Amino acid sequence: MKFPFVFIYRKLHVRGIALFPFIIFQNKIFTEDLVIMNHERIHHRQQLELLILPFYILYLLNYIRNRFIFPDHHTAYLNIIFEREAYANDMNLKYLKERKRFAFRFYIRKYRKR
Ligand SMILES: [Zn+2]
Repeated sequence: MKFPFVFIYRKLHVRGIALFPFIIFQNKIFTEDLVIMNHERIHHRQQLELLILPFYILYLLNYIRNRFIFPDHHTAYLNIIFEREAYANDMNLKYLKERKRFAFRFYIRKYRKR
């Protein structure tokens, strides 16, 4: 088994979730999608930089804060700082090689509407 450790869990309510050192996907088809895989690997990098547990705490707090700012769950989710960085760069497959440390800090004020 090679890193990252990928699992399939069909009852997962989202496409995929990065829980370092695991990536859990709802369907095996997502494991072949380089953009989706890159997205989850960006979250792994963020998690390592924040020593894992603080990442989840900040992620959740950021989401709760966003629910007061944005009208719906999806927009609040897309505007979690860690998601902003991941969605902005997941199509760049070289991103993790070029990425500066704690690069999510550059996304604090970059609102997303998608
Ligand atoms: Zn994400």
